[in-house]
Amino acid sequence: MNDAIQGPNSSYSNPFAVLLAGGVGGARAARALSTAFRDDEILVVGNVGDDDLIYGVHVSADLDTVVYTLAGIEGPHGWGIENDTFTVMDHLADLGIATTFRLGDRDLATCLVRTRELDAGGSLTDATEMIRSALHVPIRILPASDDEVRTRIKTARGEWLAFQEYFVTRGHADDVSDIVYVGADRAEPAPGVIEAIESANIIVIAPSNPPLSIHPILAVPGIRRAVEAKDRVVAISPLFDGKALKGPADRVMAAMGLPPGNAGVLAAYDGLITDLVIDLADASDINTLSGAVQVHATGTLVRSSEQAERFGRWFWETFR
Ligand code: GDP
Ligand code: CA
Repeated sequence: MNDAIQGPNSSYSNPFAVLLAGGVGGARAARALSTAFRDDEILVVGNVGDDDLIYGVHVSADLDTVVYTLAGIEGPHGWGIENDTFTVMDHLADLGIATTFRLGDRDLATCLVRTRELDAGGSLTDATEMIRSALHVPIRILPASDDEVRTRIKTARGEWLAFQEYFVTRGHADDVSDIVYVGADRAEPAPGVIEAIESANIIVIAPSNPPLSIHPILAVPGIRRAVEAKDRVVAISPLFDGKALKGPADRVMAAMGLPPGNAGVLAAYDGLITDLVIDLADASDINTLSGAVQVHATGTLVRSSEQAERFGRWFWETFR
């Protein structure tokens, strides 16, 4: 494994920015920053609350989305690999197995590599390192924890669902009444996470779903405190005109008692951030939200490479 991401005793170049990332919002932010910063200036800390054992393999949906996006092979819908085939899913279906959770053949191969590494006694950090280096991703990516943290969702009807059951199998259609991060209280930050946060100039919270992608990272003891101690913590809002681009962020935030729009993003990171970056569509929020934090408005859609480059340049000029 690469010694650049090991603990405090190894050779370790300080990242300029540590990015706390979920899936698609995290991956796109990582790619946008990578257009403006050197590869070794960025380190991603990824959410593991979505991880699960599915079809017998360890799925790390958010970490893989980040790796695939930085490798330039991400699927078109925010998961998986582009132009993947689904032969294994087809045959599983023939065998009578429910295949609502789609894992493409190549994506499944990634999960097999991870599962094999974990079964051999390796950590999730080791497995992530194997995958990102095999796919030639030059940016360091650490799971928030090597220990099991599992996001569970309580529906308004009182049922508890595993995260992927809520999100994929049921298409995040259920009204949510509670969210817990099972195991987070006894999890340890993965090796290097706290050191990276402490040594970085700036912490960036990606435009990921706050309760579903960022809070499970912050729930790992030690991570929130390390972030709180920083002089500059910048959150990028996932909202446009008060709504998520895709997915349930706005609904889930409302369910968790957060106010609507960017006020909700601010409240989700209360006491944690110094700067909030919002989209131009919400520029009028600057007047109402400025005060405790500095609010910046710019184009925050970073789907295309042009958008990513423009945002990366803006970010560099604003925060470097
Ligand atoms: P998931 O883990 O794949 O579900 O995704 P995340 O939690 O990382 O991110 C989901 C959020 O990303 C959604 O609320 C989207 O609004 C937001 N998002 C997706 N693409 C972009 C983008 O280009 N810019 C911004 N600002 N937000 C985005
Ligand atoms: Ca996710």
